[in-house]
Amino acid sequence: MELVVTLATFNQKYDCFNLLTPHKLHMKKMMITKRNGLILILILSGFSAFAQTYNYVPYKKEVRPTKNLIVMIPDGASIGVISSARWYKYYNGMENCLYIDPYICGTVSTFSSNAPIGDSAPTTSCYMTGMPQQTANVAIYPLADPENDLVEVDPSMAYQPLATILEAAKMEQKKAVGLVVTCEFPHATPADCAAHHYNRRNYKSIAPQMAYQNMDVMFGGGNEHITADMLQHFGAKDITYIKNDLQAFRNLKKGKAWALFAEEALPYHLDRNPNEVPSLKEMTQKALEMLSLHENGFFLMVEGSKIDWSAHANDAVGCITEYIAFDDAVGAAIEFAKKDGNTTVVILPDHGNSGFTLGRYDLKRYDRASIDMLFRNVSKYTRTAEGLEKILMDENPENFRRIIEQYTGINDVSDVEFEALINSKNYHAEDYMKVGENPNMNAVLVRIMNKRTYFGFTSGGHTGEEVFLAAYHPQDDVPTGRNTNMEINQYLSDVLGLQTKLPELTKQIFAKHTDVFAGYNVQIDRKNPDCPVLIVKNKQKTLEIPAFKSVAYLNKQAIDLSSVVVYIDKTGLFYLPENLKEKL
Ligand SMILES: [Zn+2]
Repeated sequence: MELVVTLATFNQKYDCFNLLTPHKLHMKKMMITKRNGLILILILSGFSAFAQTYNYVPYKKEVRPTKNLIVMIPDGASIGVISSARWYKYYNGMENCLYIDPYICGTVSTFSSNAPIGDSAPTTSCYMTGMPQQTANVAIYPLADPENDLVEVDPSMAYQPLATILEAAKMEQKKAVGLVVTCEFPHATPADCAAHHYNRRNYKSIAPQMAYQNMDVMFGGGNEHITADMLQHFGAKDITYIKNDLQAFRNLKKGKAWALFAEEALPYHLDRNPNEVPSLKEMTQKALEMLSLHENGFFLMVEGSKIDWSAHANDAVGCITEYIAFDDAVGAAIEFAKKDGNTTVVILPDHGNSGFTLGRYDLKRYDRASIDMLFRNVSKYTRTAEGLEKILMDENPENFRRIIEQYTGINDVSDVEFEALINSKNYHAEDYMKVGENPNMNAVLVRIMNKRTYFGFTSGGHTGEEVFLAAYHPQDDVPTGRNTNMEINQYLSDVLGLQTKLPELTKQIFAKHTDVFAGYNVQIDRKNPDCPVLIVKNKQKTLEIPAFKSVAYLNKQAIDLSSVVVYIDKTGLFYLPENLKEKL
């Protein structure tokens, strides 16, 4: 069977995206041949080049470089969350604006290489590398998806690790670098800055890369992912590792440090024990205090990681309070930047999530509701649904109503709601073993809590609307108007004043081992499947290069590399520094 498919042609102009033009899409006629159940896709009209998307292009206006750069990402924060957070602050007598407000300067369209709605991994990867990528990709060149690609994708570059803004700041400019997050450290957004893999869930390949980046600060969660090998590396590199010790964290003064406060992600800001877990603002301030000691300046990425998680859970009070905790960290960063006079701060989400709205279709005349009606109930919630679930999980049902009222002010839990709670799939109180087929208690609590508010959700996943952009630059060279995620990378590259542009740096630090060691005796030792080792022999010399680390061994003597080595099983290739060849 043989058929020819012509992709849809578009009437609209796509110049505003700098994506494949309608003409090129039209030209992408593909012949799909089905034989013996195998589908072969043959591209009849070749792509001109990947140059359009993976080449250095300056930002659309002049940007004067600054010594320091801070990028702040409220993960998955839709504009409805921002508006609600502002009203929430006002209603609760905090302040009537957010720290981002004076600096909002535009919007960003943020998409994957082959789909308009972005996943966390490819979206921040694009901010960091300049190349849109596919769902789950962490700072690598995407696989071509000819039928759906929105940008030119060169199939020969598939899986190629791409140098990031963090790596460029560290290697080319000898700046200090750091990450501050509220998720576990190898989660998508921090990984996008400091690791490379096609699958964000492969922590075994991502976590060691982050440890071996020799970053100056890494604050957040994820003790679970620290291995004995990583601890040994921290020791060799004089990197202090602080595990669940707030006092030791507060005593940090200088040097390199990792401070993690949970096995996986940190608790939500609202549920956090402030005597054990620092706020995002405090971690940001500590990072700035330490990074600013470096004479060459620094690059710092701060993520409000769990705004996104509460949006996935449709937990309205979680979205609002997580955003406010992030915004407080923005306040600290802007204060630092203004005092310092040589720091740029760029604040932008990576994508929308869940269609969060203030106003919901099932509420009559909600559009006339007073601020008191809109915000009274949510303002009484002192735990997220997840935090409340944790408390209820070990309680007998007879205490449920009292505890719910204590933490939310809700005193009218109906019998139907109560039944749903005790029948939650994950509820296993010792003397109450009835396990229902209902959703987890967290989801039941979300329903109970949201029902008494005016917030609406259209999904439990990411959404494709554009996100806000805010920035501070000492000479006001901020990015403006509506931007693509690729343009954000151009702006970040320019504000760092990179001499070696990212595509050039990629060639230098992520060359294919088959090119670097062509003609040599090369073997791959896969005894440890999590950490294959490339072994290259030349006369008396043996060079051993383990994957996902920044160290190699020449005749068993350790050599420090200034970048991480990446192994991709899909290509069977090591991607490593071009100049390693000189060692042999
Ligand atoms: Zn995200």
